[in-house]
Amino acid sequence: MKNEDVQRLVERISMQYFKRPFLHQARFNHRLRTTGGRYLLRSHDIELNYRQYEYYGEEELIRVIKHELCHYHLHLEGRGYMHKDAEFKALLKDVGGSRYCRATDVPDFKHLYICLSCAKQFKRRRRVNTAKYVCGFCKGNLRYSP
Ligand SMILES: [Zn+2]
Ligand SMILES: [Zn+2]
Repeated sequence: MKNEDVQRLVERISMQYFKRPFLHQARFNHRLRTTGGRYLLRSHDIELNYRQYEYYGEEELIRVIKHELCHYHLHLEGRGYMHKDAEFKALLKDVGGSRYCRATDVPDFKHLYICLSCAKQFKRRRRVNTAKYVCGFCKGNLRYSP
């Protein structure tokens, strides 16, 4: 599948499931790794993960396109376009989109620690020595939560 085909596919899905035209650019991004696709807030373009398409095929690609079109249409209409928004969740369910998130939704921390006293969570890029570091709120001991 080439980029022109992707463009046409997104336009077709937009009309079929959203009853509204897709008026921007859709293309494969060969560098996307951890997400199925992403909607670009500034340009309103949609980028799709080529490797995922190669691996899972067109059916999954269509589900990702539906997800990104939910962001697209709601954003352009000034409605709740983020994952946490009720309008987004309702529309996604309506059209049967995938639950894959875009790049910004992938957490950039690797290690999670939980305070054993107050249960507060701490996200860290690097591992910390739990024998040395305590909870900043209550001074409780931390437990590593892989
Ligand atoms: Zn998303
Ligand atoms: Zn604590």
